[in-house]
Amino acid sequence: MISIIGAGPAGCYLGYLLAKHGKEVNIYEEHSEVGKPVQCTGIVTSSIDKLIKMKKEFIVNEVKKVNVYSPSNKILNFKLRKKNYVIDREKFDKYICKKAVEAGANIYFNHKFVDYKQNRIYFDKRKNRETDILIGADGPSSKVAKCKNMFNNRKFVIGLQARLKIKCDRNTVEFFLDKDYFGWIVPESNDIARVGVVAKRNVKDFFEKFLKRINRKYRTINYQSGLIPIYNLMTKTSKDDVFLVGDAACMVKATTYGGIIQGLIAARELSKALLQYRSYERLWKKKIGKELKYSLMIRKIMDKFSNEDYDELFSLITNKDVKKIIESIDRDYPSKIIMKMAIKQPKLLKFAKKLY
Ligand SMILES: Cc1cc2nc3c(=O)[nH]c(=O)nc-3n(C[C@H](O)[C@H](O)[C@H](O)COP(=O)(O)OP(=O)(O)OC[C@H]3O[C@@H](n4cnc5c(N)ncnc54)[C@H](O)[C@@H]3O)c2cc1C
Repeated sequence: MISIIGAGPAGCYLGYLLAKHGKEVNIYEEHSEVGKPVQCTGIVTSSIDKLIKMKKEFIVNEVKKVNVYSPSNKILNFKLRKKNYVIDREKFDKYICKKAVEAGANIYFNHKFVDYKQNRIYFDKRKNRETDILIGADGPSSKVAKCKNMFNNRKFVIGLQARLKIKCDRNTVEFFLDKDYFGWIVPESNDIARVGVVAKRNVKDFFEKFLKRINRKYRTINYQSGLIPIYNLMTKTSKDDVFLVGDAACMVKATTYGGIIQGLIAARELSKALLQYRSYERLWKKKIGKELKYSLMIRKIMDKFSNEDYDELFSLITNKDVKKIIESIDRDYPSKIIMKMAIKQPKLLKFAKKLY
């Protein structure tokens, strides 16, 4: 018996892959349904199609261009090499869950995991259950990681976003850089967008500041917020018969804070590890370890940027060749961008010094 805590994308995709191969799988979710509350902007590159074929029923929009703004609002615009989907996270999560159930996994709602001892899983106000293997797919505050002493001193940023009625271009996603926050406008259409910021602290203040910065008329439809774990090279992802996947294992890109694709890839690798008795750590690191590490490195450099540094960076990137490189490469693979850009524009190397 394999027990998965958390029916998010990572947990359900893993449940689907294991059940499809004949494993007995139970998925336990603390909420009464999958996909709620939504705590995500839901923008993903089309690389996701290699894992889960995207369906019209949960694609809200497709974007083809990106505008990036420096703190003084200098703009760089790029064409996206691959289309990016803006998805409905609730429908997407429900779709993967349905696939898991159709493949034979059992799902138990209103089961809040609280502890694990000697192969018994303990839930809040529910009878405990036995398992052979326990998977923590329970998101950034992973209780599974905590109860196996794998949580350590993780760091988080906080995301706050609102769905706004606001004028925007449905083909273009907008990213805003600032020394204190990372902001975005992700369009659902020409007049509805997911607008948000990520910051280490005071996220509400930075969100207000950001709304003033974009200086457009808007009406708020609703708010969403959530924790985003910072990838950490020291994070352990398995101990004895317990494994962590997705946000529970901090598998989020520290550059753009995207974690959906990384969680799905790690889930696929964990299914291989369990089905073929291979090392999970080795498998997931081979697929996403390098990119998570490079994203973290870029983030560490960016965290030391002043607003003037960002402006200088923008003036260097205006170089046609550098822009071409950025446009030609998938943002899920930052390692490929860095070297090529540094060769075309050696002045960019001065920013690497900030790492030390
Ligand atoms: C504001 C914001 C915007 C984001 N935007 C993007 C984006 O545009 N693109 C992108 O790729 N990523 C984005 N992310 C990150 C993305 O949401 C996560 O990486 C992704 O949801 C991780 O999936 P997961 O399955 O690992 O965990 P989750 O989606 O967090 O799922 C965990 C599940 O476990 C359940 N659970 C938790 N604790 C327990 C418990 N004790 N017992 C039982 N069940 C439990 C939860 O209810 C939940 O259903 C964003 C995050 C935030 C906060």
